[in-house]
Amino acid sequence: MSTKPSSLINAYARLPVSFDRGEGLKLWDDEGSEYIDALGGIAVCALGHSHPSVTHAINEQAKTLLHTSNLFSITHQDNLASKLCELTGMEAVFFGNSGAEANEAAIKISRLHAEAKKIAAPVVITFNGSFHGRTMATLSASGNDKVHSGCHPLVSEFLYLPYNNIEAIEQVADNPNIVAVLVEPIQGEGGIVVPDPGYLTAIRKLCDQHDWLMMCDEIQTGVSRTGSWYASIGQGVMPDVITSAKALGNGIPIGACLTRGQAAGLIQPGHHGSTFGGNPFACRVALAVLDTMETENIPANAHATGEQLKSRLLEALHNRGQVKEIRGQGMMIGVELDTDCSGLVNTGLKNKVIFNVTAGNVVRLLPPCNLNENQVDDIARRVSDSIIEHCETSTAAAHS
Ligand SMILES: *Cc1c(COP(=O)(O)O)cnc(C)c1O
Repeated sequence: MSTKPSSLINAYARLPVSFDRGEGLKLWDDEGSEYIDALGGIAVCALGHSHPSVTHAINEQAKTLLHTSNLFSITHQDNLASKLCELTGMEAVFFGNSGAEANEAAIKISRLHAEAKKIAAPVVITFNGSFHGRTMATLSASGNDKVHSGCHPLVSEFLYLPYNNIEAIEQVADNPNIVAVLVEPIQGEGGIVVPDPGYLTAIRKLCDQHDWLMMCDEIQTGVSRTGSWYASIGQGVMPDVITSAKALGNGIPIGACLTRGQAAGLIQPGHHGSTFGGNPFACRVALAVLDTMETENIPANAHATGEQLKSRLLEALHNRGQVKEIRGQGMMIGVELDTDCSGLVNTGLKNKVIFNVTAGNVVRLLPPCNLNENQVDDIARRVSDSIIEHCETSTAAAHS
């Protein structure tokens, strides 16, 4: 770790470790210690670190062409869009460089939908506990005061409703200014909140009834994570808009806004753009990610290993009173404790396993989606050992 005074803006509370090499599930810090990575760069490295097919695509494209701009057609961008549409049934894609930018495109599409319907003050429904990004529009869309903090005035207008509650949407449905619903199929930052089966289907139905766009933020749930290409599609729900990023480039920044039906035709030349978005380099790498996932059956593997990981955690933790629930889908798993446990991250580091804690008391696991059984057992063992150690020391502290 560097001890020089930092020249960085103090935007992040950093942990006292820095990694300089990774391979598959493993990371090595700058003192040579080896860790297993059950966080995957926050759902980004779904194929693990330094995956050979991704590295190959990076090398080849770096030797060939990085960037030309969207003034010209870009073959890899066309190919990546076709691949995403082929995998999902969506019809047209816009590329940016991050999740927030993918959601910005979605929010703009909802504005254009409003304009077409002559609605001057459009409202987009979002949900309490949601997270959609850190740009002004996407932080405004997020149903979380902490994300809003210091950023007022917000972009209007988002209507925050309770998550996993269809009646709450029905109660406001006669508001003629509503134009869209933006929803995470599972809330990620919100604490791995899994809604009841049928929730997305019911939202789809309401959107059809009221001519609202159904926009699924699949930035965390997408690209194999929950056991299918996208969680909504895996449940048989076709949104009008799906936003994707995180795992799409396995670490090379890229975001995508996938659209279909009326949502696919709203953006026309002049409405939106991005200098870097969809450049030859990022698109070639993302194509390699999708091709590898398809060849290696990664969505199915995420499902199987996710079930294994949940049951191993349950075996190890079911009799611990402080553990309230183990939940999730595919390789998106949360272990909820009964009290704030942010310190658990350091217990994990001590035990050489990386995860994070979200919503204050939920241990969040977002490991690579291409693991084998032994690797999953290793994660389960180190994570449950860390949780048990944390629970025992906090109980001991409470009694002393
Ligand atoms: C991470 C995330 C975002 C923001 O993505 P960035 O790439 O950080 O802009 C938006 N929505 C969800 C659900 C996310 O998990």
